[in-house]
Amino acid sequence: MDPVGEKEIRASFVNCSKGEASRINLPAGLAGLPWEDLDFLGWRDPGAPDRSYLVAPRGEGLIGVTLRVPQGVRRSFTKTTVCSVCTTGHPGSGVTLLAARRAGPAGRQGNTVGTYLCADLACSLYVRGRKKSQLASPRYEEALTLEERIARTVRNLDAFLEKVLAGEK
Ligand SMILES: [Zn+2]
Repeated sequence: MDPVGEKEIRASFVNCSKGEASRINLPAGLAGLPWEDLDFLGWRDPGAPDRSYLVAPRGEGLIGVTLRVPQGVRRSFTKTTVCSVCTTGHPGSGVTLLAARRAGPAGRQGNTVGTYLCADLACSLYVRGRKKSQLASPRYEEALTLEERIARTVRNLDAFLEKVLAGEK
């Protein structure tokens, strides 16, 4: 994705208030991130470990989504260890269930969409082999080319964003 700055990031959030968006802790060193290897920017809140954020290019603009670890989900019941966006497998707490409030009225009524994601939201880097999962064989479909894996990651993320945005209707 193209590099984006603080102002664009804060303006991109679709499922929280402007006030909340203005208080979000952004990742450190934005200018030095490997933007050319990112399909989306994702990060965990350094001050609140149960909160994460992702900002993705979509159409002409950007879409930002705030995510939370849902309350009351016990780890022992979350057996999925494969990220639903980049399909990388991780041991232990490397994949986490995150819920996004839907955009618009549905979200204000408490309606959320959940998905399993790499806990560090570094899907783009796992797909490109720039970051390694601690599993010995974290992928099941090695026959895919890098381009195909990237395309699938973008498609999966897009499907998730679509569900979040569906709350606006
Ligand atoms: Zn992932």
